[in-house]
Amino acid sequence: MKPLDAHDADAYDALPKVELHCHVEGAIRPQTVMELARKNDRRLPTSDPTELYRYTSLDSFLEVFWLVQSLLADPDDWARAAHESIIDAAPHGLRHREMFFTPARHLAAGQTLAGIVEGLSRGIERAEADTGVSCMLICDIDRSFGPGPAGELVDAAIELRRRGAGERLIGIGMDSTERGVDPRDFAEAFARARSAGFHVTAHAGEDTGPDNVATALDALGIERIDHGLAVMDDPDLTARLAELRVPLDVCPSSNVVIANRFARLEDHPFRGMRQAGLLATLNTDDPAMTDLDLGREYRSVAAAQGMGWEEMTAVALDGVEASWLDESDKRRVRAQFRAEIAAITPP
Ligand SMILES: [Zn+2]
Repeated sequence: MKPLDAHDADAYDALPKVELHCHVEGAIRPQTVMELARKNDRRLPTSDPTELYRYTSLDSFLEVFWLVQSLLADPDDWARAAHESIIDAAPHGLRHREMFFTPARHLAAGQTLAGIVEGLSRGIERAEADTGVSCMLICDIDRSFGPGPAGELVDAAIELRRRGAGERLIGIGMDSTERGVDPRDFAEAFARARSAGFHVTAHAGEDTGPDNVATALDALGIERIDHGLAVMDDPDLTARLAELRVPLDVCPSSNVVIANRFARLEDHPFRGMRQAGLLATLNTDDPAMTDLDLGREYRSVAAAQGMGWEEMTAVALDGVEASWLDESDKRRVRAQFRAEIAAITPP
């Protein structure tokens, strides 16, 4: 394989991509973190926010995530975070994103779901006009808050939908710490979300074993799995997910830097997951907090896992299949991606 050069960088940035696993709070520019802290009169433990962005485990990352998240104090802050996150991703080939936000702490502090979704939607609309990138929202339950607040959050989302507001909010997800939490505790909240017509997904098997994925799948009825790395430890579960084409939105760099699950990108099972027939896609998770973008994620994974251009274009096209776009949009986007890919000089 020839060494990477600037031309290769162009190809991976030009490759059109869908992103299904990106947290808006993890996509806030370090400079914006500083400005929000000043605006909202919050103290940070350092004057250089990149100093904050160092982790030894998923739970140590979550402490930083919660601190940065707490800086979003009003709908304008959410609008700014959403807008900048898309502006920053567009030059690296992002065409469509289904983006997480996790409002448990903000709701506990007195913000409303309606206000947060209004702010995010406003930022997204501005970014769509600027870049042509489309973006929808997934409201994540923070499982560390337990099933009570999860149910209230789902009820607030249903109420928003009933009022005809929040049309960008298409899904309910679940994130935060996995250890010591039983996914079954959230079955009722997920059942209500599903029957109200929301798509559903959940973080599972990022920091725990395959049972965590199987339980989330069976008890919550999720359509997608966020991370899901642990499936590879269970051949029967792997075969089941491959057969059903259940999408796994995988974030290899994040799994090295945040979950510390693998020492190097070379050790990540991503290519093995695809060779096992899984619908595994590539995503950044928390790009600003890991100094990452989607072009670099594709380029780094290709180099570390020895994946060729054809394989990487297949990953990009699988992102369309794994998305919650409707079938006619999927056909349109797939055709557009194919045309764009054909015009790129492979690295
Ligand atoms: Zn995540």
